[in-house]
Amino acid sequence: MLEPGYGGNGLRLIELLEEAAPPTPKLSADHAVLPLRLTAENGAKGLMIGEFFVSTRVVCDACEGTGDHPERRATAAKDVDEDCPDCAGEGWTVGKVEVDWTTIKAIWRKAVEHFTAAPEVPHG
Ligand SMILES: [Zn+2]
Repeated sequence: MLEPGYGGNGLRLIELLEEAAPPTPKLSADHAVLPLRLTAENGAKGLMIGEFFVSTRVVCDACEGTGDHPERRATAAKDVDEDCPDCAGEGWTVGKVEVDWTTIKAIWRKAVEHFTAAPEVPHG
């Protein structure tokens, strides 16, 4: 068992391991190590695609954007004086549209560009 407080071979082995290993960056609790790019290979595509949506105006499916009651449209009946029940005659509704993979990657690139630490300038 390696117990550095007691000296001897265990302490020397730990010292050798520390010398051989590259230094581990110290991160504060509000930082994380993340990939520079989102790819299918690093699992990001499978994880993130289909996860994000935006609300936007979309053409009403029921009236195809006319705002007319579907019965009036189907029969050309002039006596149907009601608007489309789905969109209240507006011709559009608010729908959820998926954020596409290209946009997700662009947002990630912008965040990486902004938050990537600048390399240290050597002293001297
Ligand atoms: Zn409608």
